[in-house]
Amino acid sequence: MHCSIPDSPPPADLLRDASLFLDFDGTLVDLAPRPDMVVVDARLRALMERLTAVLNGRIAIISGRPLAQIRGYFGPAALTMSGSHGVERVWADGRSLIPDTPGWLAGALARAEAFGARHPGVLIEAKPFGLALHYRLAPEAEAACRALAEAIAADAGVIVQPGKMVFEVRAAGGDKGDALRAFMADPLMAGTRPVFIGDDVTDEAAFAAATALGGAGVLVGEPRPTAAGFRLENVAATIGWLEASTSVPA
Ligand SMILES: [Mg+2]
Repeated sequence: MHCSIPDSPPPADLLRDASLFLDFDGTLVDLAPRPDMVVVDARLRALMERLTAVLNGRIAIISGRPLAQIRGYFGPAALTMSGSHGVERVWADGRSLIPDTPGWLAGALARAEAFGARHPGVLIEAKPFGLALHYRLAPEAEAACRALAEAIAADAGVIVQPGKMVFEVRAAGGDKGDALRAFMADPLMAGTRPVFIGDDVTDEAAFAAATALGGAGVLVGEPRPTAAGFRLENVAATIGWLEASTSVPA
């Protein structure tokens, strides 16, 4: 994977004839103390509608969150979406690909909840295909959370996915790059340039996939080595750039 430290914002016409893929947390909405505290406001809803129109529907959200949560935030909008790090997928026309709940999950969740009861501030999040240990409100518990995540993952034969103040335990295989490639294979998007915008380490697979398909990645946040070719400073800058992009003549 090619890595550099990009420092220029994307060109204003990057989305022309492109397909747009968006991470959610830290990209479209600011990170909150708890994941259920983020807000999708009227401005963001309006922006998503405008982008969908300008791009003729070539837009998708690819998030680590459960698909049901992303659907909840964007309401009944006909939107192509992937949840759970690429595992769950729905298309704007109603098609969907949602695997069965894995058998190891119930036991792992019980173990994590027992741990959570002993570590105030650690938030245990049950996900459809895994679980997350959030320690944003208890940073001193990072090492203990990592150890528990690694133990659960080893016993279940799955992996630990670190994120921002979170360790997630989930099945291996399937990442945001896979979701991007699957959506790009659809006739709606096939042959266009994919642009993926995201902020976290889990977005690197999608930056690389977008670049390999002739498109580009856009990193949101501080400069760091990344497979993305462009950078936007923060969520506000990203919203501003997307809004400006919808007024560039196609
Ligand atoms: Mg993110």
